[in-house]
Amino acid sequence: MYSNSLIELDRAHLIHPVASYRGHEAQGVRVLASAKGATVTDAYGRQLIDGFAGLWCVNAGYGHESIVEAATRQMRELPYATAYFGLGSEPAIRLAAELAERAPGDLNHIYFTLGGSDAVDSTIRFIRYYWIARGKPRRDQFISLEQGYHGSSTVGAGLTALPNFHAGFGIPFDWQHKIPSPYPYRNPAGDDPKWIIAASLAALRAKVEAIGADRVAAFYVEPIQGSGGVIVPPKGWLKAMRDLCRELDILFVADEVITGFGRTGPLFACSEEDIVPDFMTTAKGLTSGYVPMGAVFMADHVYQTIAEGAGASAVGHGYTYSAHPVSAAVALEVLKLYEGGLLENGVKAGARLMAGLEAMRDHPLVGDVRGRGMLAAIELVTDKTARTPLPAETQPARRIFDRAWENGLVIRAFANGVLGYAPPLCCTDADIDAILEKTAKTLDQTL
Ligand code: PLP
Repeated sequence: MYSNSLIELDRAHLIHPVASYRGHEAQGVRVLASAKGATVTDAYGRQLIDGFAGLWCVNAGYGHESIVEAATRQMRELPYATAYFGLGSEPAIRLAAELAERAPGDLNHIYFTLGGSDAVDSTIRFIRYYWIARGKPRRDQFISLEQGYHGSSTVGAGLTALPNFHAGFGIPFDWQHKIPSPYPYRNPAGDDPKWIIAASLAALRAKVEAIGADRVAAFYVEPIQGSGGVIVPPKGWLKAMRDLCRELDILFVADEVITGFGRTGPLFACSEEDIVPDFMTTAKGLTSGYVPMGAVFMADHVYQTIAEGAGASAVGHGYTYSAHPVSAAVALEVLKLYEGGLLENGVKAGARLMAGLEAMRDHPLVGDVRGRGMLAAIELVTDKTARTPLPAETQPARRIFDRAWENGLVIRAFANGVLGYAPPLCCTDADIDAILEKTAKTLDQTL
């Protein structure tokens, strides 16, 4: 049981990520105490269905004893082994091999990190190293998408387009460039896939031309943009962008931190689109959030170029906790669960979720319904014809999140009135129905 003193301790000492510090002090923390399956229980004993898998990460669901056992076993045998100095541990080596086997194409080389931000950050360093090794040091400009999210590391936050990741920090990102997102619902030219793809191709070409073709290092995308509001590009978009990057000799980075590990159906969204990026970043579902870990997947040609460029010198990039054996042991067990039925269940549950959300299209507040697999969103508007967003000054996200919580549902409410869903893949029919029923109730209360 938690008491006011815990709230006071939080207020006094714990700095929360991406929060208004003053707002949080006024609101006070909501403490979660335990969880099982797709249900979390707060410290007052209130049960909530977790429609967001923590932070799009607990893909396997909560309370898997086999994951706990894998971690415990590894902690007992070898809780830590560095991957520096030519050392290693069995789970990390096995995990790298298992991931390479399942990765698209020749993404055969895996660099483990602690999460998604440092995975993205690592790619930026590797990409610079790659171009310098290729004798093109001027390739130091990076392009990503408006509404893109790629974490909050000091450098990688430049790729993130969300304004509050830049405002107030005074860190220059003049090596960063953005092109518009393939946002069918808000595309000025309409939602015809042909036009959306053509517009993105033209935008990337124009941006590269403006920067200078010999200056651009890489283009970053999320196969489905998560934190920007679950923006789903039409089928064929990812492949078209990948092909253009190849034509322009620009590295293509697929950030699968959210979409990886079954979130959209298969292990990786890139496989579904039949594309092989030069880099792929993952985290979250890799360990299903039980312990921290991320992974950078690097294509053969990039690895060979960096290795040749470095020769006998060390490539000076690493973390104490790179390839942590306990995280690797957990990831190996999670992978077994995915392939032992969880991916399949996610596809089934995702179809039920999408069908249920689609049925809400007639609700006066619902302007758009979109998603793939267990990654979905509804976009709320005040006028369906004009597609008018909910007024920001009424803080719709805060109000809807609070209301959903009172109704026993955890969802992500984005500032622009988009409600995001990323439930655990283990959801039963009853779990999905509860998410839908509580969403409908929350919408009616929001009218
Ligand atoms: N990239 C994407 C696409 C993400 O969604 C996130 C986090 O949500 C990150 C990178 C950063 O990951 P982390 O929060 O583990 O640092």
